[in-house]
Amino acid sequence: MTSDDPVTCASCGSRAPAQPLTWSTYAGPEGPELLCDRCTRENVRSIETQLGPEHG
Ligand SMILES: [Zn+2]
Repeated sequence: MTSDDPVTCASCGSRAPAQPLTWSTYAGPEGPELLCDRCTRENVRSIETQLGPEHG
């Protein structure tokens, strides 16, 4: 599902007029959240350290 609505990074608050391809979506506590390209990188690193068979 695509959208042209403005988006805001859930982590740093960066804004974009539409979701850039470099941004990622992840399941937050209150629904889908967006992460900018920069926060995505940092988030991936933190996820990798927490990765486990029963995590998530
Ligand atoms: Zn960000």
